[in-house]
Amino acid sequence: MPEFENDAVQKEVTELLSELIRIDTSNPPGNETAAARFIQDLLFAEGLKAEIIESAPGRGSLVARIPGRRGQKSLLLMAHLDVVPASQEGWDHPPFAGVVDKGLVYGRGAWDCKGMVAAEVVALLLLLREGFEPGGDVALALWADEEKGGNMGAGWLMKHRPELVQADFVVNEGGGHALPIDGRNHYTIQVAEKGVFWTKLITRGTPGHASMPHRDNALLKMSTYLAKLGTLKTPIHQSDIVEQYLSLRLATIGQTFKGKLQVDDQLLNELSKTHPRVAAEVNTLVRLSIAPTMIQAGTKENIIPESCEAVIDCRLLPGQTAEDLRRTLDEALGGLEEVEIVPIQADEGTVSPLETDLYQNITQTMQELDPGCRCIPYMVSGGTDSRFFRQKGISAYGFFPVSPDIPPSEMLSMVHGRNERISQNNLLLATKFYYRLVKRMLG
Ligand SMILES: [Zn+2]
Repeated sequence: MPEFENDAVQKEVTELLSELIRIDTSNPPGNETAAARFIQDLLFAEGLKAEIIESAPGRGSLVARIPGRRGQKSLLLMAHLDVVPASQEGWDHPPFAGVVDKGLVYGRGAWDCKGMVAAEVVALLLLLREGFEPGGDVALALWADEEKGGNMGAGWLMKHRPELVQADFVVNEGGGHALPIDGRNHYTIQVAEKGVFWTKLITRGTPGHASMPHRDNALLKMSTYLAKLGTLKTPIHQSDIVEQYLSLRLATIGQTFKGKLQVDDQLLNELSKTHPRVAAEVNTLVRLSIAPTMIQAGTKENIIPESCEAVIDCRLLPGQTAEDLRRTLDEALGGLEEVEIVPIQADEGTVSPLETDLYQNITQTMQELDPGCRCIPYMVSGGTDSRFFRQKGISAYGFFPVSPDIPPSEMLSMVHGRNERISQNNLLLATKFYYRLVKRMLG
């Protein structure tokens, strides 16, 4: 006996995703409450009362909980309701129409992250319908504002109402894609995120008329600093967390190594000639990175500016701190006497342990659904809402299983890009995954 009717479940999760795509939650401004209400009604129809918490008018996050019966650990399934904006051009189907074409659901959020929302919600609906009584709490949190940093969503709630999402374990977005190697899928479980430090650099000089140039020019000073950052190579720290992933990632482009892979600058240089994208990916997983992103100086064509401001985006490895960044800048720029450093945002990297019930259960559930597959730990170079939980010592993992039915190169361009889409088969796989994960852990 199958656990449920595959066709009916696939239809239900597809229709839910299409509906969610049609509720435009582009952030800014967000308007997540509309999507939260839609899901609140679905859960209510199956007897579960969900709460919508607004950090500001229209900025609602949804939380719900099926209480546990036997004092086991609790599991929080989460994802986010907002999406990044989409231009209308260049799509095969409009970005907010939720069109299904040849087994694929098109629209902004199909991947990031409404497909995951739909799979988690349908998994919960199935559990409610069959009267499942979990041993520990099963909670659901669907967040506003993830795409703009989460301070109006998960960050806000963790500050003001943390009791609502109290849990021992969290499953979130941020991992789950598979590396197919030798006919075997290797699914990534996201266990770590780099720290994100947005930092402003300010140089100052003497203003004057540009017809009589002098060297005390804030803009010239800044440009020498930025040039130094452009050639900076910070030390390589290859942690255990990324080791397996790096070996397998290189194997996907036909590069295999005898013994233990040790990334160094020679390898990265060679790689950047043949596979620049892979080189950039490997590079960011083994070192602190700095990229200048904004610059501002001067108000008039013929006046030497008094000050210059530049913004740098810095990604720190887990364990590295603001002090490490300061030391790195000090060495790279040859002293900090002439430059002011102003933090804009400073979030340290986060890690969850590999030896937990949830990590094991994710692996076992996947092996049941895709026999012969492996699961490997994975780190990303950006932050998700998981960080708000890891900062409080809660183990959080990014896992939304991705069947490799869309080529990885296309995946990269469609998330936050054009023609974002997901297969109906993938939606069914993900729904089954969350359904079975809950039953395996809390049954
Ligand atoms: Zn996302």
